[in-house]
Amino acid sequence: MEITVASAAAPGGINEDYIITGQDFVVVLDGVTPLPNADYGCHHGVPWLVRRLGGRLAAGLTEPDIPLTELLCVAIADAMTGHEHTCDLANPYSPSTTVSILRFGPDSFDYLALADSPIVLQHHGTDPEVITGYTRPGDATPDHQRWPLGRHPEHPYTVAGIHPEAADKAVTGRGDLDKLRRAAVMTDGLSRLVDRHGLYAWAGLLDLLEADGRREPLLLCARQTPPCQPERFAASPMTTPRRPCAFRRRGVPGRRSAGPAGRP
Ligand SMILES: [Zn+2]
Repeated sequence: MEITVASAAAPGGINEDYIITGQDFVVVLDGVTPLPNADYGCHHGVPWLVRRLGGRLAAGLTEPDIPLTELLCVAIADAMTGHEHTCDLANPYSPSTTVSILRFGPDSFDYLALADSPIVLQHHGTDPEVITGYTRPGDATPDHQRWPLGRHPEHPYTVAGIHPEAADKAVTGRGDLDKLRRAAVMTDGLSRLVDRHGLYAWAGLLDLLEADGRREPLLLCARQTPPCQPERFAASPMTTPRRPCAFRRRGVPGRRSAGPAGRP
């Protein structure tokens, strides 16, 4: 199994994403950027939250067979204890994040997606399947409409922050490892190239992630406003990518390797 990671902060900003991988798991957290000039009741900030949550999730993932929703619930509760005495956790603008987890076992894999960091799975001989905990209702819904109720588990855009029960809102599932050709876990900074801007099909995006030398240009492409396509890389002025990150899996040890990009 091969896992590749890529991530970058917004130009001049801090990276509010966090990625942790092991031999058999991937965790991606996309911290929700605070509203400008908002009092969010926490002096730690989003980067602290994603690292704290990610660290606890990684520790839990070393224990086999614990349900992913349970892991996430415990991790959120732990993060809360880290600042419940110093910060206002009742503040609806308290730091929060999406959470996506992909875990591999000997014969199967399972996944969890809370909010909109998609997990894209492609099985041998099939089109990619997209797992997401939230489908944005089109470009007409600006990011600020996700505030502040996304912190509450009853809101359709539920994120991890100050409610451990938010874990129950995550989309979860399991599949056979033998059938899986490749997978990617990404923030919406990258997935928007497909589901918001229609620049690629999911399989095409996976091909680019899988191709050596194409990931960095792809991140640069995602940073463009509006985002560009690879054939325009050479002609387009490039800036630092916004914050996409992605992983891929190629082949299974002891089994037939994945075919060339684009060919199941
Ligand atoms: Zn805090």
